[in-house]
This record gives sequence, structure tokens and C-alpha cells, in this order.
Amino acid sequence: MPASGFVAVPTVRLNNGVDLPRIGLGVYQSPAGSAAREAVEAALEAGYRHIDTAMIYGNEGDVGAAIRATGVPRQEIFVTTKLWNDDHGYDQALAAFKASLERMQFDYIDLYMIHWPVQHLRLDTWRALEHIAHTGRARAIGVSNYMVRHLDELLGQCEITPAVNQIELSPFNYRSRIDVIDRCRAANIVVEAYSPLTKGLKLDHPVVRKIAAAIDKTPAQVLIRYALDQDTVALPKSVHRERIIENLHVFDFTLTEEQIRTLDQLDERLATGWDPTDAP
Ligand code: NDP
Repeated sequence: MPASGFVAVPTVRLNNGVDLPRIGLGVYQSPAGSAAREAVEAALEAGYRHIDTAMIYGNEGDVGAAIRATGVPRQEIFVTTKLWNDDHGYDQALAAFKASLERMQFDYIDLYMIHWPVQHLRLDTWRALEHIAHTGRARAIGVSNYMVRHLDELLGQCEITPAVNQIELSPFNYRSRIDVIDRCRAANIVVEAYSPLTKGLKLDHPVVRKIAAAIDKTPAQVLIRYALDQDTVALPKSVHRERIIENLHVFDFTLTEEQIRTLDQLDERLATGWDPTDAP
């Protein structure tokens, strides 16, 4: 039976006291225009209160428009956007943030993050994000694709500790990222799992399917629950209403330790897009 009904999504408290819903709708490759807008509207209707976009996704404007079109008050929705690689550097970062705000037609962003640790420039960029946080126009600031060395460099120099590090996570790469996850936990940085559904590549994996069948859930729900059971925040993407709803119906079960151990065995250092492992 298809999942239905409104789901109240639990939150996790960031290191600055802001609450972040534990599931966010990803909109990477959600085509700009009606597809992206309808996905966000379907998500808000189902109970999502967290949308994850980026300048480079080309749909910040649609995310902003969809949020305004629904009756949900802006302050009840947690919106993340990201600074693209061409926009690093102090002044460039300030300008990029302003442009994102203008595209979304928002007064503030909930979480503004560095999309990728661009060498030589990322510390200056972080200082710009700290300035933005001080002005209150970003409620939290964070990073993405930061490995241990990037985190250590930043933590050695920053005034504001990032609230979040967003990295690719699924059973197919979780164990090989455990060093990053442990470093984040030690610094009280919340880990967000991007591509938690492996971009769809592993939804037919026999081990995932077997666990799903055993608990009467779908493979997508198993992978999202895995991310939640590892204390991360999951960011599944879909442009289909039924899947958007399905992906939120993951709070009425947990995986057993044995199921998690079985999924952990699937690690193959999967990187479905870019791979920051060796980023200088
Ligand atoms: P996901 O792992 O979320 O997988 C999305 C794919 O799975 C799409 O093809 C989608 O198809 C399909 N899908 C979704 N739900 C289901 C379902 N229930 N059953 C079957 N198939 C399903 O991929 P993403 O790479 O998009 O990652 C999610 C989000 O993470 C991004 O949208 C983005 O917000 C963020 N991200 C961040 C990155 C970074 O560098 N910081 C990099 C990559 C992603 P369909 O849409 O057709 O339903």
C-alpha cells in the first residue's frame, strides 16, 4: 500500500542551537521550473520542512517560489543553499550569498555552506561565511565534501565551528568515511548524508532488497533509515510525489544491529559523483 499522511519529522540540534529536520528534500538534478517547484510543494505537503539546494543546481529561484506558494510559514522551513567553486574568496563569497538570497527572494538562509573545499581560497571564504552568520542572514554555516584534513585546517583557524558537514553517505561508502564522521562528532558537527539512495544505482542490490522485503519496506526506505540510524541527516532527492512521500515514511521503524552490520559490509568506497578523498 502506498505511504500516505502527514509525517512530523524529528530534528537534531546544531552546535549553535538551531534545529535541523533529520530529512531534507534534495533538489540536485530536479529540473528548474515546474518540476523543481512541484517537488518542493509535494514535499512540504507531505511534512518535509527542510530543502537542500545549491547555486549550481540552477533551481534556487524555484525553491523560493515554491515555498512562498505554499501556506507554510517561511520560518518553519529550513533551507540550505551552497556556495559554488567559482565563488570562493572573501568578496566573491559575500556577493555569491547576496545573489542566492536575491534568486530565492529570501531575507535569510537557514544554512549556507561551502560546496567543495577549493584549495587556497576556502579559509577566506569561510571568513566571509562567518561574517554572514554574524549579520544573521544565515542562521547557520557549514561545509560540504570536507575530509579530515580540510576539517582540521578549518577547525585550527575558524572563529565559528561549522554546524554541518555534508558528505556522500550510504552503506556503500559509510565505513570508508568513518574517519570523517568521527572527526565531525568530536567537533560537534552534524553530518548530512547526500546521495543516500546512491542516485538510484544500488536500489536493486540483493542485500538491500532482502532486508526491505523482510521488514515490508522499500529499498529506498531501508537506505534512508540506515542514514538516520547512523545519526546522520538524510537528503533523498525525487521529483515524483509518491517517492517523495515514500521517502519520508521512515520514522515508524528502525533497522536491527544485525541489519546495520549486514549493510555495513557493502562498503565499496562508492562515489556516485565527485570524490573528495584526494582533494588537496
Ligand atoms: P539520491 O541518492 O537522493 O538519489 C536520487 C535518485 O533516486 C533519483 O534518480 C530519484 O529518481 C531516485 N529515487 C528517489 N526516491 C526513490 C524511491 N523511493 N524509489 C526509487 N527511486 C527513487 O541522489 P542525489 O545525488 O540527488 O542526492 C540527494 C541530494 O543530496 C541532492 O539532491 C542534493 O541536494 C544533495 N547532494 C549534495 C552534493 C554535494 O556535493 N554537497 C552532491 C550530490 C547530492 P526521481 O527523482 O526520478 O524520483
